[in-house]
Amino acid sequence: MFILKLRYILVFLLLTTCATGYYEHICADTKALNVKTDTLWKKTDIKVCWFENANDDAYAENRQIVHDIIYVTWNRTLSPEEVPEDEWVQFVGWEECVSGDNHDIKMKEGPGANRVNGLGTDATYVNFNYSNPDAPKWDIKRIAIHEFGHLLGLAHEHNRVDTGDQCSYEPQGTDGNRYYGRWDHDSVMNYCNSRYKDSVLSPSDQYWILRVYYPDYFIDECEPYIIED
Ligand SMILES: [Zn+2]
Repeated sequence: MFILKLRYILVFLLLTTCATGYYEHICADTKALNVKTDTLWKKTDIKVCWFENANDDAYAENRQIVHDIIYVTWNRTLSPEEVPEDEWVQFVGWEECVSGDNHDIKMKEGPGANRVNGLGTDATYVNFNYSNPDAPKWDIKRIAIHEFGHLLGLAHEHNRVDTGDQCSYEPQGTDGNRYYGRWDHDSVMNYCNSRYKDSVLSPSDQYWILRVYYPDYFIDECEPYIIED
C-alpha cells in the first residue's frame, strides 16, 4: 500500500515538474508555427502605408494603436541583439500611401473582413474592419498582431493537422507548408488562442519567428517537427 502511494506521489511530482517547466524549457516543449516558406521576406524593411482613409481623424487613434502594438510585438521580437541591425526584418513607413513610394503593403480601415490578401510576400494589402471608431483597444491590437503575422508569411495555427481536439475551428485561408515546433494553443495565429485580450506574442511565437527569419543566428536546437517541407 505504501509503495502504491509512493508511486502516486512520484507521478504527481513528475507532472508538477513538467507543468512548471512549460514555458521555461520552451525548446523541450517545441510548439508553433505554420509557415508558408516561399512567402518569407528576403528584404529587411517591409514598407507599410495607410490609404483611402489615411487622413480620417475618426480613426487616427486606431492607426496609432496598430502602429504601436506592431512595434512592441513583431518589430521588437525581430530586432534581437544577436542579429546585426541592418539585417532586422521590420515593418517601417506607416505614412499615407503615395503613388510611387515603393510601399509593400497598403493598410486601410473600412467595410469588409479583417483580412490580408495573401501571406507574406504574396500580400499587397491588409484591411482592418473595426465596427466603429470606438472599438475596444484590445480588439484592435489582437487583430493587428494576427494580420501582421500573416504579412510575415504565417498561416493559421489551427489549420495544422496536429491541432488538438480542444480547438474545433475549421482550417481557414491559405495554408503553410512547414511547421515549426508542435501546435501552439496560445499562438496569435490560432483562432483558439484564449489569451487574445493580452495583446502579446506567445513565447513560442517569439521563439520560432526568430528561427524562421534568422536561421543563421538562431539555431533550432529542438527536435525538428516538420510535417511537410
Ligand atoms: Zn487570420
